[in-house]
Amino acid sequence: MENLHPDLERVLLTEEEIQKRVGTLAEEIASDYADARRVVLIGILKGAFIFLADLSRELSIPHMVDFMSLSSYGDRATTNGAVRLILDLRKPIKGEHVIIVEDIVDTGNTMKYLYNTLKGRKPASLKTCTLFKKDREHLEVPLDYVGFEIPDVWVVGYGLDYADRLRTLPYIAELKKEVYQE
Ligand code: 5GP
Repeated sequence: MENLHPDLERVLLTEEEIQKRVGTLAEEIASDYADARRVVLIGILKGAFIFLADLSRELSIPHMVDFMSLSSYGDRATTNGAVRLILDLRKPIKGEHVIIVEDIVDTGNTMKYLYNTLKGRKPASLKTCTLFKKDREHLEVPLDYVGFEIPDVWVVGYGLDYADRLRTLPYIAELKKEVYQE
């Protein structure tokens, strides 16, 4: 790609590839929940807001959106997995059909924390959706909808940042190792 940002190694998935997959994920979800009164999509800030916006607009069944925000201790590229809730849902989810919408699952710690936290609130059903999943074994949380499996590198774009930069690129790109490993 021309004019690639100097911090980027390569583009992993183009805008077209991402948009197409978001469309098919929305179709899968719509068919799985065809009989549900409505679905609650819970987007995890900040990374998932662009994915959630696109997924929500592609989703043809009744649904509402809400948000949570978590913070991980330490530097995000090297975090040891401890997470803390910093913004909670506006409404109870008891009796609702809930889908957690994440940008990316790496170790699975964040999704596991979210899953266990929300399960305790007694939703009618709880599923997980992530657009990207890194190539790892032994995740301790079920992933119901996965957009793409990607290599174990730091990626940016389509909502994903590095130190709050490069978040709004329309594609997903690999950050140069020297940028985050220095
Ligand atoms: P996990 O708890 O699964 O190890 O990590 C999940 C969180 O770490 C994601 O929600 C995301 O905020 C962050 N993360 C993991 N890998 C990447 C990556 O390659 N790029 C970016 N921008 N964030 C990532």
